[in-house]
Amino acid sequence: MIRDEQGRDRFIQENYQSVLAVPYDIPIIGYGNHIVNTLRIWDAEAINTISLDSFDKGDYGKAVEQENLARTICEVLYPNDNHYAGKELRLKQQYFFVSASVQRAVKKYMEKHTDIRQLPEKVCFQLNDTHPTVTTAELMRILLDEYYLSWEEAWEITGKACAYTNHTIMSEALEKWPIDLFSRLLPRIYQIIEEINRRFINEIRGIYPGNQDKIVKMAVLYNGQVRMAHLAIICSFSVNGVAKLHTEILKNQELKDFYQLYPDKFNNKTNGITARRFLLHGNPLLAEWVTKRIGNGWITDLSQINRLYPYIEDDECLKEFMEIKYRNKVRLSEYIKLHNNIDVDPDSIFDIQVKRLHEYKRQLLNILHIMHLYNLLKKNPGMEFTKRTFVFGAKASAGYSRAKAIIKLINSVAEVINRDESIEDKIKVVFIENYRVSNAELIFAAADVSEQISTASKEASGTGNMKFMLNGALTLGTMDGANIEIVEEVGSENAFIFGLSASEVIAYELNGSYNPRDIYDTDEDIRLVVDQLVNGMYSGEDKELFREIYHSLLEAKGGDRADQYFILKDFRSYEEAQKRVEMAYGNKNKWAKAALLNTARCGKFSSDRTIEEYVRDIWKLKKVRITV
Ligand SMILES: *Cc1c(COP(=O)(O)O)cnc(C)c1O
Repeated sequence: MIRDEQGRDRFIQENYQSVLAVPYDIPIIGYGNHIVNTLRIWDAEAINTISLDSFDKGDYGKAVEQENLARTICEVLYPNDNHYAGKELRLKQQYFFVSASVQRAVKKYMEKHTDIRQLPEKVCFQLNDTHPTVTTAELMRILLDEYYLSWEEAWEITGKACAYTNHTIMSEALEKWPIDLFSRLLPRIYQIIEEINRRFINEIRGIYPGNQDKIVKMAVLYNGQVRMAHLAIICSFSVNGVAKLHTEILKNQELKDFYQLYPDKFNNKTNGITARRFLLHGNPLLAEWVTKRIGNGWITDLSQINRLYPYIEDDECLKEFMEIKYRNKVRLSEYIKLHNNIDVDPDSIFDIQVKRLHEYKRQLLNILHIMHLYNLLKKNPGMEFTKRTFVFGAKASAGYSRAKAIIKLINSVAEVINRDESIEDKIKVVFIENYRVSNAELIFAAADVSEQISTASKEASGTGNMKFMLNGALTLGTMDGANIEIVEEVGSENAFIFGLSASEVIAYELNGSYNPRDIYDTDEDIRLVVDQLVNGMYSGEDKELFREIYHSLLEAKGGDRADQYFILKDFRSYEEAQKRVEMAYGNKNKWAKAALLNTARCGKFSSDRTIEEYVRDIWKLKKVRITV
């Protein structure tokens, strides 16, 4: 720090790495109107391709350092889903993208305005998860160091210009940077965060005198870490969750102390999806049929899709609707034949779970239940059974070894069951490789049953659940995330709900009284499938393949409780819900009504509705009507 000629404190950064941020503007063309917005993305370029100075001194390492940094900032994508890795490069990426964006936003504002203090009237930084949270301190830095505002002025502007969306309550997903890493990489930003933290703790001391516990629970800097979610909350005027239940859990459990301090900041914005992709583009047969029945207004105003409602009493309509479902099942069957070389029957129930692989999403519950069904069929070949095609699609992030083991298990079970002629193709199991938006469109359109079976309280919202609903699949799920709001729209008689509630899960987590061993010891069928993980039935030569999964269900390890996602606890309830699915599918007319009802009631889940709520409640923008 030095003092300049005007007597102001100046912070000088030394020995830094620098890269040049180069903007690329991608046009985003509005549907059926004349609006083209721009999505700005940034590339990183080395400032001097080869540092001649370093090169002359023979320091070749340093010469290429900046080039390597620039390349890795943009080329390395961390593939984690709901998991924090804490890598140095990741923090460099976050700061690079944030700094480029915030610097540019402030400069652009000052091109048309004179008073930096009015910035929040034109600019809002919506922090989408904690990943861009360093925005708060970067804006403070610009206001303090480049516009020479006082701390109080800068703080007021920042607090009016930032808003935060929380996406998860799972502790392993929360970003907590080690202070030594953070302060070494971003010394000036860290200084500002220290001051934010110091003032915040003083505020807490004033409000809750003598209550050290509040400081421990709420501080930004604690235990050698920078807690990014706390920074985001303290610096923002709005904090929102992404489904009703999720926001309630934030207010009453995870962020309770912050909610008590700032009740007015908290609000809900239930996620949504775009029917332009997941119906109009992904399911052209159904899209055309919907338009034939109710006109094309649904494409830009999905609430109009409820005009399909009266048609659930029209048998001709139901027939057409289910004929389209059948043709979409044929389309997916062809994809499966081509990519997996498996024959599946489009007349069977298409029961589908596609989503990132994560233990809380419980693909393991689904495959264990399939193993159980297979055991039943082997024991009673003549039992009543409706043909099922179970489809999975899931990517595991690099390094998540248990997730990879679960994918291996699904594929191994598929191999054994699919080639067993004695069960006469009553069960087929398909694992679709490289699950992504392009093949997702084929999958949603073909689904009868939408598997949304996360441990209650763990899935903040989910959006796959909405894409299935839009395409006329019935939800088989827990009362978690936006499933609850889907059931509110369709009625519990048109979904298959099972399992522990969020409050039951949270109570077990608090009192620690759940012991999966009790279930294993007393329930023969469950014990059999759990044992089949290690008896060689699915692991071929390598008996140890699934041992780690087996142990995770029965034994605590490294701070994780045994069966921490309550798979054995919910198993029987899930099995019973699956029986209800089979019963319901037997009544073709009733199933068709429920399927069409799902499509007709999905209007709420349009992302257009979600965005309008952000616009109205958080960004407070005036609506401009464009007439063409
Ligand atoms: C919608 C979607 C997701 C999110 O699915 P969830 O079931 O909500 O986890 C993930 N991947 C792809 C390709 C999607 O289209």
